This record gives sequence, C-alpha cells and structure tokens, in this order.
Amino acid sequence: MNKYTTTIGLEIHAELNTNSKMFCGCVNNPDEEKPNTNICPVCTAHPGTLPVINKAAVLSVIKVGLALNARIADFTEFDRKNYFYPDIPKAYQISQYKYPIVSGGELDGVAITRVHLEEDTANNKHLPEQAGDIGYSLVDFNRSGVPLMELVTEPVIHSAKQAGDFGRELQLLLRTLGVSEANMDKGQMRVELNISVSADPNKFGTKVEVKNINSFRSVERAAEYEIKRMIDLLEDGRGAEIVQETRGWDENKQSTFSQRSKENANDYRYFPDPDLPKFYLSKIFDIKKIKDELPELPAEKRARYKNDYGIKDEDIEVYINNQKLGIWFENVAKILSTKYIIDKDASIKAASNYVVSDYLGLEKSNPNVKLPSPENFAELINMSFAQISSRVAKDILAMIVINDASPMKIAKENNLLQNSDENALKEIVQKVIDSNPNIVATYKGGKENALMSLVGQIMKETKGSANPALVQKLLKELIK
Ligand code: ADP
Ligand code: ZN
Ligand code: MG
Repeated sequence: MNKYTTTIGLEIHAELNTNSKMFCGCVNNPDEEKPNTNICPVCTAHPGTLPVINKAAVLSVIKVGLALNARIADFTEFDRKNYFYPDIPKAYQISQYKYPIVSGGELDGVAITRVHLEEDTANNKHLPEQAGDIGYSLVDFNRSGVPLMELVTEPVIHSAKQAGDFGRELQLLLRTLGVSEANMDKGQMRVELNISVSADPNKFGTKVEVKNINSFRSVERAAEYEIKRMIDLLEDGRGAEIVQETRGWDENKQSTFSQRSKENANDYRYFPDPDLPKFYLSKIFDIKKIKDELPELPAEKRARYKNDYGIKDEDIEVYINNQKLGIWFENVAKILSTKYIIDKDASIKAASNYVVSDYLGLEKSNPNVKLPSPENFAELINMSFAQISSRVAKDILAMIVINDASPMKIAKENNLLQNSDENALKEIVQKVIDSNPNIVATYKGGKENALMSLVGQIMKETKGSANPALVQKLLKELIK
C-alpha cells in the first residue's frame, strides 16, 4: 500500500456562538427547534435590506488566528460568492475571498492556509414521498446568517488518523477559546476532506472532496474508505475513473458516493460586497491586547501538566478534554504539595491514577457519582501512602463520591486504619526474621524480591492491618 502517497487537506466550518447573527440582530440560537423563529428581512434576503457586520464574530476569528500563531490581516473585506440554491435566498453567500482575516499558522503540526468569516445557509428539510403524496421540501431560516468561520489547511496531512486528530484538536481549541461549541453531531462543526492518492510522491493525484461527515470517527472512516477506493482503482489500471468531484459520506453504508462534479472558484464570480465597508482590523481591534488575554491554550496546558505534575500523557488528555475535572485536579495537586509532607511527585501521580482508573469508572457506572471536595480526595491519597491499603482506599473513594466526607473520619469509624505502631510491629517483624533464616540469607545475597515473601508473612500475622511500607522499612532496618 505504501507505494502510494496519500494527501489530505481539510476544510472545516464552525458556527460561532455569538449572541446575534453575522449581519443582522436576529438571535443566534442553534437549538431553536421551531422553524423560522429567529429571522428578519436581512437574513431572509428581502430586497433593499442592508447587512451590518457583527463585531463579536470578527473578534472570534481574530482569537482563532492568534491561537494558531497565524498572521492577522490588517486590511480585510467581505465578498459575494454567487450561486443559486434554495437555502441561500440572496443567491449569494457573503464570504471572504482575497483578504481573509487570518492566514498561515499551524495546529498539531498541520500548516493552516487561512481562516475566514462567512454566513451559514438556511436549512432545507426534505419530506419524503408518502402514499398519495409526492413529497416536498421546506426551508428553515433559523440558521440563515449565523456566523460561520471556515478554516482551510494546506494539503499536508498524510493519514486518516491524522485528519481525525486534527479535527479533535481544533474542536478543543475552539471550545477553549469559547468561540464555538463545535459539536460535530449538531453540525456546529463540519469537516470536509480533500483527498488524493498518487503513485508519484512528487506529484499530487486527482483530488476528491468528501462531505456530510458528522463525527471524528467518521472523518477517519470516510478517509480510509476513500483512500482504499482510489488505490483499488489505480491498482486496476482504472486511474482515469478518479475524477475531481464532491462525494458524500453514507453513514449507514459506511461508504462514499458521487454527488456532483466540483465547481471552480471562477464559477462563483466572487466580487467585493458593495453593501459592506472594507476595513482595517488594527483600527478597530487592539490585537496585542486580545493576544495577551487569550486563555491558556491546550498545547500550553499540556506542557504545564507534564512539567508540573509529570503524569501520563493519557491522563493529561483526560484533563485537557474535561475542563472541570482538570481544574479540580489542579486543586488536589496543590493541596497534596502544600499540606502534606509525603513525596509530592509520587502523591500527585497516585492521585491521577485514582482519578483516571477509579473515579472515572465509578462516574460511568452510576449517575449519582460526583467529584468529592479536593480536600477530602487529597486526604484520601495521603492516607493511601501509609495509613490504609489500596483496597481500603478504593472502598472509601466509592463512598465519598456518593456522600462526600473526610476519609480519615470514615477510616477511624470503621476501624480501617493500618497498624502504624512501630514498636508493636517491630516485635512481629523480628519474630518473622528469626524464623526465616534462609529467606533472610537469600535477601542478603542480593535477591531483593525475597523481602516480599517476608512482608507477606507479616501481613498474614497482622491480619492485613500492618502498613506495608512501614513493614518494609522495619524489615530492612532489622535485617541490617
Ligand atoms: P478548491 O479550489 O478545489 O477549493 P483549494 O486549492 O482551495 O481547492 O483547496 C481546498 C482544500 O483541498 C485545501 O484544504 C487543500 O489543502 C486541499 N487540497 C488541495 N489540493 C489537494 C490534493 N491534491 N490532495 C488533497 N488535498 C488537496
Ligand atoms: Zn435576521
Ligand atoms: Mg477553495
């Protein structure tokens, strides 16, 4: 298969979550279910109406550009992209062509071409044929004129997985910036794949565009399907059948199908919209201030978690994608490193393990499970180092996620604390050492593992109540 080079470029639309629409004062509400509720003469294209630019939408795209480390245009303007379709009542979409707000930049190692601002279209509702009825289509204008950003990547992606990962990373970025909810299944974020396959690594193959994809999983499946389809055609000597076209993704059949041959930019007859002012962004926005006030970006947070906590990459991704959990974990880490004197790094790692392997599992299995206070959770982690076994720690965790309480109090009330009385333990440890001279000799001979069998015997003697860390410490001291 790797005698072919796969190239993918993405075009991603995201609805911006501004209060009002792009060029009128209508409410921007993606959840409005009653058709044609949030509409006015502007977004339904009545003659003689004039659009007004939504400043908040422009600001959102500037933020995205700054987060991508891209160039923010000084001069910018809006253009008309002309085409006829029932969901575009003006017969043109206001978009940006020559002077996008953002160009260049990079995300997740993928070079960005541009990010521009445009308006979303209305929604066509197709009602199927029924007995005695030919079926018909209706148009809902609630979405007409909703601010839409379009991000275009360079053709530098080389696998289906990389395309899916880029989409996920962009979704995370948009959510972090607070500019879009970016739910794929709600159509708030739409990923279009451009894919080509070539036997010559120095030349692009014919590009096919795939649309109608509503999850990141489907982005990957559609790309895999399309790559295989094109390679099979090339292998069959039927490369001429790969034509530049738009294909749809059929979620049920898990396959792509031809929709239409692709228009060229020429067909749209772009020209600057005479109804809107051209403008200089630097005269309207303080770009430096916007940059300084950006929230911590996912890449920055990743680096900070790695550096400050040293936890596993998989754990970091959990906190990056669950902001509430991330903030809570940061509080736990702060308490562990200031209030308790145990090994700070080890305790934060242990805390993360309990969160990701245990807490999240509990949360999944029971809707009543909620995060305990960071104080109580940190107390539990601290206890798990010396005063309770990991079995007991898990049991107490399961209790405090339902009824938050002090783990120390629970342990005392239920007699769950390990025996940490050194003098009492010393006696038992010495007894076990005396009655196992062979094992002690093996340990002294360099077999570290031999110690564990002694620990096991002591745990048995104490009916599991001894603190294993303390037992090990005492064993080492007394053997010496
Ligand atoms: P069009 O004019 O057809 O819209 P563009 O040059 O604007 O094409 O590119 C649209 C998208 O297609 C971009 O994301 C770009 O990276 C991608 N692209 C361009 N050429 C190829 C190719 N040969 N293979 C895969 N993707 C491509
Ligand atoms: Zn309107
Ligand atoms: Mg294009």
